[in-house]
Amino acid sequence: MRRSVVAGNWKMYGSGSMIEGLVTALAASVATDACDVIVSPPFPYLSLVQQLAKGTGIGLAGQNCSAFEPGAHTGEVAAAMLADIGCQWVILGHSERRQAGETDSEVAAKAAAARQAGLQPILCVGETLEQRQSGDAVAVVTAQLEALVVDLAAGDMIAYEPVWAIGTGETATPEQAQEMHSEIRAFLAKHQPALAEDTRLLYGGSVKADNAAALFAEQDIDGGLVGGASLQADDFAAIVRAAP
Ligand code: PEP
Repeated sequence: MRRSVVAGNWKMYGSGSMIEGLVTALAASVATDACDVIVSPPFPYLSLVQQLAKGTGIGLAGQNCSAFEPGAHTGEVAAAMLADIGCQWVILGHSERRQAGETDSEVAAKAAAARQAGLQPILCVGETLEQRQSGDAVAVVTAQLEALVVDLAAGDMIAYEPVWAIGTGETATPEQAQEMHSEIRAFLAKHQPALAEDTRLLYGGSVKADNAAALFAEQDIDGGLVGGASLQADDFAAIVRAAP
């Protein structure tokens, strides 16, 4: 039985006061007994959130990490540093980073560094609208997975995030999302049979309070990676309640 998970990606939004209010409201409204609830603030606010969320059951993820060990890499953040301040997870390969030039092999190297530091990666994959319209969605996602599957470990999560649904208000239908999740699980069954059944597969792309339950009801959708709606405590709490 895979435990549900709802992870909020706060992207590059927030300020100290806004985040203080958001975490305080989440702590009062989100139940973490049946579902892993994770938030992923920008780096400068990780410690603040860690302090505010202490004892609430809300977990912490970085939005990225370096592929390198701590050292002379100005501007980078080592996976070990994220673990040190209380992160258990790190989002890797988000499409906004891939669009900025991050490659499959860089995502794989970051995932290796994350595991080494004791973090569990949330590995993002997904096709563009053009790729979907030309019938290449499965091939694109599979190619992204090829780079990641060799070293996949227990506890890693995969987030299917169709690029055309991120921040656009356009959501994959539950059927479209399930179809891809089932392809992903079949791919895992072929390449990592011991991990296929237990690896949690999240859907991301304009998940909202009013569409979450239908998405989460699908057999291979184990929860969501939520962007915009995770910045509103009421909306995020409603999405968490929709998780089975
Ligand atoms: C995301 O940032 O991962 C995301 C899915 O964003 P949104 O929910 O806003 O589409």
